[in-house]
Amino acid sequence: MENKNTIRREACPECAKKIKSIESLSVFKAEELSLLLSPKRSIKVSFSVRRDDKSIISVEGLRVQYNSALGPTKGGVRFHESVTEEEVTELAFLMTLKTSLFELPYGGAKGGVTIDPKNFSSVELERVARGYVRTLKSALGPNEDIPAPDVNTNSEIMAWMLDEFETLSGAKSPAVFTGKPLVLGGSMGRETSTSLGGYFVLREVLKDKDPSETAIAIQGFGNVGSNLAELLYDDGYRIVAVSDSGAGIYNRSGLPVGELMEFKRDGGRFEERAEEKISNEELLELDVDVLIPAALGGIITKENARKIKARMIVEMANAPIDHDADLILEEAGIGIIPDILSNAGGVVVSYFEWVQNLQGMAWDEERVREELQSRMLSAYKKVALKQSELNCTMREASSVQAIERIVSAEKLRGNL
Ligand code: NAD
Repeated sequence: MENKNTIRREACPECAKKIKSIESLSVFKAEELSLLLSPKRSIKVSFSVRRDDKSIISVEGLRVQYNSALGPTKGGVRFHESVTEEEVTELAFLMTLKTSLFELPYGGAKGGVTIDPKNFSSVELERVARGYVRTLKSALGPNEDIPAPDVNTNSEIMAWMLDEFETLSGAKSPAVFTGKPLVLGGSMGRETSTSLGGYFVLREVLKDKDPSETAIAIQGFGNVGSNLAELLYDDGYRIVAVSDSGAGIYNRSGLPVGELMEFKRDGGRFEERAEEKISNEELLELDVDVLIPAALGGIITKENARKIKARMIVEMANAPIDHDADLILEEAGIGIIPDILSNAGGVVVSYFEWVQNLQGMAWDEERVREELQSRMLSAYKKVALKQSELNCTMREASSVQAIERIVSAEKLRGNL
């Protein structure tokens, strides 16, 4: 029976633009692409949360299950004050392409809770996490929909969500959430998996370049940005600029990445550093070989795309470049390694975690690393082949590669 909160929605405008650009390659029939124009299921919930002062507030949450032709849906849950249905829908669409591109047995989903977690105590966040799962329980499960951490959610929040789910089910079910703490069935290597996945792809793309001659700027120095900076720095690449939400720092000869990671671990802010300061906008416009957005979505638009001087952009954040900017960058000859390829390391290792949970096994870190490397390079090579076959951008080639599998599954299911 359909949940009474289930509403079929119009697609997000960005999804429609991305699909339109695929249409122009004439690989798919219109009805095949139109199947991807809107999510299969979009669930809006609201639930009560008791604050520490005993007052009760109503919290809004969302889960968008975009497409499940290839398997149970998979995607993170973010806690952020700016969560909207449009944003979550676009991210669920991208997850659908990402899981398909990497040939994972999953569809795509995304979830969100519209709160500013900075205004919530840890106990209140636990009540939010449990409330979200309580309200969405019937839509989740290891064979239905498998959430994971995303912006402002982490392994501790996954542990609370898992505990709530298992309490309501009356049975253990570790495979329903990924990104869990190790002791509750988490996987080795999950913390650094997104950075490591991006690193494997970028190293392959740059294999003919001298690392010391390659200048790289990274926006965002959190989990993804800092770990990727460290991997590249250890290989001898010159990390010339990094930033946090307050400021960027810049040194043409290269920044001391290890020292910066320690500085950040101790709670430092880049605006307190002695290096030359630049704004986050200036960082995007630096004359570098590689620009890596690893903070927020939607930061390169038609307003600033013409000011980008980087030779190549590696999307580690989700959807950092909107469709209008994409066209401008393409015209300028700037190569883009798209998010669904470069930042998929996290979901690939989440898949390894799910497999380990279902089998009751635990892999060591070396196995996780080897399997991740093999999956990242295999996806990259297939995309490169598709790109030369269709003479298109890497984003288009990745999307075509992903959509082919979804269309094929929909046909076999009798939906096309
Ligand atoms: P994080 O919270 O650990 O780090 C975010 C970084 O961005 C911090 O350095 C923060 O200071 C900076 N930042 C915040 N607001 C900013 C602003 N306005 N301007 C510039 N910088 C700002 O998050 P993360 O896990 O590193 O994720 C970064 C991005 O990568 C997000 O877009 C996320 O959706 C995407 N992503 C993450 C994963 C993952 O496994 N963590 C997987 C795929 C994609």
